[in-house]
Amino acid sequence: MVTWIRQFTPVYLAFVAAVGVGAGQTAAPPAVHTKVIASAPAADAVVRNRAPLRRNKFDLLPLGAITPAGWLRQQLEVQAAGLTGHIDEIWPDLGPDSGWLGGAGEAWERGPYFLDGLIPLAYELKDPALMTKASRWVEWTLTHQQPSGQIGPTKNDDWWPRMVMLKVLTQYQEATGDARVIPLMQRYFAFQAQEIDKHPLFEWSKYRWQDELVSVVWLYNRTGDPKLLDLARRLHSQGYDWRRQFEHFPFTAKQTRESLGLKTGSANPDIAMQSHGVNNAMALKASPVWGSISGQAADVEAVHEQIQILDRYHGLPNGMFSADEHFAGPDPSQGIELCAVVEAMFSYENIEAILGDADFGDRLERIAFNALPGTLTDDMWAHQYDQQPNQIKCTRTDRQWSTNGPESNLFGLEPNFGCCTANMHQGWPKLVETLWMATPDGGLATVVYAPNEVRTVVGKGIAVKLVEESDYPFEGHVRLTVEPQSTVRFPLRLRVPAWANGTKIRANGKNVVGRIEAGTFYTLDRDWHSGDHIDIDFPMLLRVTHWYHNSVVIERGPLVYALAPTPEWSKLKDRGPASDWEVRPSTPWNYALAIDEKHPERSIDVVQRSSKGAPFSMDGTRIALHLHGRRLPGWTVVEESAGPLPMSPVTSAEPEESLTLVPYGAAKLRITAFPFLSSP
Ligand SMILES: [Zn+2]
Repeated sequence: MVTWIRQFTPVYLAFVAAVGVGAGQTAAPPAVHTKVIASAPAADAVVRNRAPLRRNKFDLLPLGAITPAGWLRQQLEVQAAGLTGHIDEIWPDLGPDSGWLGGAGEAWERGPYFLDGLIPLAYELKDPALMTKASRWVEWTLTHQQPSGQIGPTKNDDWWPRMVMLKVLTQYQEATGDARVIPLMQRYFAFQAQEIDKHPLFEWSKYRWQDELVSVVWLYNRTGDPKLLDLARRLHSQGYDWRRQFEHFPFTAKQTRESLGLKTGSANPDIAMQSHGVNNAMALKASPVWGSISGQAADVEAVHEQIQILDRYHGLPNGMFSADEHFAGPDPSQGIELCAVVEAMFSYENIEAILGDADFGDRLERIAFNALPGTLTDDMWAHQYDQQPNQIKCTRTDRQWSTNGPESNLFGLEPNFGCCTANMHQGWPKLVETLWMATPDGGLATVVYAPNEVRTVVGKGIAVKLVEESDYPFEGHVRLTVEPQSTVRFPLRLRVPAWANGTKIRANGKNVVGRIEAGTFYTLDRDWHSGDHIDIDFPMLLRVTHWYHNSVVIERGPLVYALAPTPEWSKLKDRGPASDWEVRPSTPWNYALAIDEKHPERSIDVVQRSSKGAPFSMDGTRIALHLHGRRLPGWTVVEESAGPLPMSPVTSAEPEESLTLVPYGAAKLRITAFPFLSSP
């Protein structure tokens, strides 16, 4: 069974045999490979919360269990050919002089951030060149632990970058079974437990403690050492109380340098850390993760209020809240940082496992399929620091950000600041890791839909492969084919998004029984035979939702659609494929839409295209929407952004024009939130 199910393992073994990583550990001759396999926690091994931790609704599958296919594989291949696969060759901060490779260079968060995305990308694509690249970095940390137990460069003793490196090590251990990882983490946590009262959490680590708790819980579930739970309690008691922040939420409007007391050259005041976008994206998981340890339902459930508050005061149509770089209100010309996008995704992935509500999967898809691709160039060589839902010019200029600098919405190598350059890599690969999760009753749950293949065990240890074929999120049909090693009964829980009223599910061609309710998981609990298949049809109906100043956003399935003025790209700094770019529109953007809100299909035509281009590019656009609108001459450019949205409904005497909307992720210039005309 083990050799059948762990088809990814021989890839790793062939790789280690070829490059000789972990000499003495893994570079063994073929005859002993089975021993290495047996010592690895297999892709079939689901590690669940150990008492006294609260049981999760779902449990994460180990890295390597899920292999991307179809458009998702294409997207990961674009990423591997882009910055993720090459950044160490062109960016000194991640070059051979990095402190995380023993050099004298950058020794803080950038090395671990990069690895946090490179490791899952390498092992999901089973790409030997990327594995070689990743292993060189991990090897340095594994072979340079200090006698005290401290890890990482000696240049600083900040807890924060080590919190990121722990996430890297847990993924690496899952993918490779490297036997050195768990003892290294045990020694590190013992060191931290000894030090932390003398040297408490400070600055970033004080606000990001919950990200370390994810790794502490990971290790506790593998060793059962109660000292780890003591450490978790101390991290929580030293860390910032996020739950309390959202019980008495003070940041109900856009922040400014003045309101936060920011001074160039001085450390961030606490109030700036508390209203900071990336801190808040990471903190989405704080209450649920802490609730796993405290056992208190109120801790776990506090996240609902936290999300509602962010929606209410700072919600944007791309699935994120605004923060550029601090909370910025609901105007769609405000921005959100790429680090916050990928960290919110990682938070929702963890929250979905802990709480198991379908809503978190909806939220994760909305960010992953809109905000993430919308802030990266098609080839993933350039990114923005801040993206705007209404983004009409990406130019170097001071604009209406809460506190960010003039380069923040350029596409480039390190616009504004280099954190996103290092941290962007985790977005797509971690989404792949969490497309499926295990259920406590021996079954499987679909959390996010996309083409892939999952291998795991179900029931009482029967190996199974499920193949998911789909063009979701562009289309609503999903086919799952079940291939168990032998006939086995297990529950399959299928997420039905909140927008998917009228979803149809057929098993081997026959409609399933029972009510299929949008916004919940539908459970199919039955005997599964090899070749059984399930067809899911999500109705991809057009939807009109309302946002800032009663503007409208057009949605279909999990995708948000945008008008894309024709972009003119001009190079600001030539650096080959990693150049910096400004983008200006050569066609108008200031339209109000003519829509029939009750029956959007009467005013909007859905046009399907067959394309093999990158999924979230103009060339690769699979779906376009055709509709009509009129220009609004009074809606003008203010500080190089779309000026204040006119309150809808509006009127216009301009002629009616035909307009085309494309997925948000493809439109690098765009209007997403539109005024609408009072009489269509
Ligand atoms: Zn960043």
